[in-house]
Amino acid sequence: MSMPLTSKLPDVGTTIFTVMSQLALDCEAINLSQGFPSFDPPDNLLDRIEHYLRSGANQYAPMTGVPALRQAIADKTARIQGRRIDADAHITVCSGATEGLFSAIQAIVRPGDEVIVFDPAYDSYEPAVTLAGGKTVHIPLAIDDFDFAIDWQRLEGALNESTRLVIVNFPHNPTGAILSRDDLDQLAALLRDTSAYLLSDEVYEHIVFDDEPHVSVLSHDELWERSMVISSFGKTYHATGWKVGYCIAPDDLSTEFRKVHQFTTFAVNTPVQHALADYLVSDPGFYEALPAFYQQKRDLFCDLLANSRFRVQPARSTFFQIIDYGEISDEDDVDLAKRWTREIGVASIPLTVFCETPFTGTRLRFCFAKDDATLAEACEKLAAL
Ligand code: PMP
Ligand code: GLN
Repeated sequence: MSMPLTSKLPDVGTTIFTVMSQLALDCEAINLSQGFPSFDPPDNLLDRIEHYLRSGANQYAPMTGVPALRQAIADKTARIQGRRIDADAHITVCSGATEGLFSAIQAIVRPGDEVIVFDPAYDSYEPAVTLAGGKTVHIPLAIDDFDFAIDWQRLEGALNESTRLVIVNFPHNPTGAILSRDDLDQLAALLRDTSAYLLSDEVYEHIVFDDEPHVSVLSHDELWERSMVISSFGKTYHATGWKVGYCIAPDDLSTEFRKVHQFTTFAVNTPVQHALADYLVSDPGFYEALPAFYQQKRDLFCDLLANSRFRVQPARSTFFQIIDYGEISDEDDVDLAKRWTREIGVASIPLTVFCETPFTGTRLRFCFAKDDATLAEACEKLAAL
């Protein structure tokens, strides 16, 4: 007897990051699509991992994370965001931000709940909401040429008694938008009389340019009470393949988060956690230097395209640059990203896949977390268009 399989995610295909990276591989194209660096994590951090691998740190870590790592995260949060959190009660180490986001959503969202996301929205949010039985409500970010911002009126209009969760992601992938303290105050004011929680995806917290600060939800007294903040070491330490992230949340939210996390993955790989704990304490200079490191790459990428037919405005954060190809083509962005991967040999990410209703126009996202020679080679091909 054959059993018909009814998909729980009928509208979900393979993620664009896998599609584009595979196409880049097949076409031997320069892969500026999926976001990952072409360089290695710092040597001292690799040395610490080797040390722990060879000194017996190879069995299960505690479910909530290695205590020294949680303490190092708590100390960093106190120093940078000014919030004293309890390393035992408020921090859970998880398998990358992806697991953190998934576990947070499963812990909070019940059937029938509404979850607000801002388009373009990172692609892992909605499937997690759907699996929890919730309904994703998409609000487009307000767009002014290359500037993207929360549309407060639309948020106010979308909030209602069914709203269980609002998901924000600043520094924002793919647009590079960031939030100011005023923005957080606005958000707090709008959420004040609701029963909505806030999930803040801050994986690019250390990659903000032009001397602007990253204003974390963790630094906001009122928002913190209702928030789960997710981050990842993948972006900060050039180590996207390690999949180690964490969730910071107040007591009740952390308790619920852990109920899911313990059965999603239980615990995260032990030697890497120990090594990260050491390195966070021994070398804060690494993440402090990250804005300058990536700003040089952003500027190089933008300069190399300055005399091309693309329109470019330097990203304010993240390791992604959006370019507008409107002068060259009016082709659909998904088709064009694939065609240029095949024909030009440079892979990128289209923006409309992150939007319920396309509104981002003729734009593609390029990852500039690559060595300078790769960026130069890619830009030569693009500038010839
Ligand atoms: N959120 C955003 C906005 C991201 O760009 C990414 C991926 N890079 C993630 C979450 C997932 O992070 P991780 O690789 O740690 O799972
Ligand atoms: N976050 C990465 C990006 O935006 C991709 C992560 C993934 O492939 N899941 O490119």
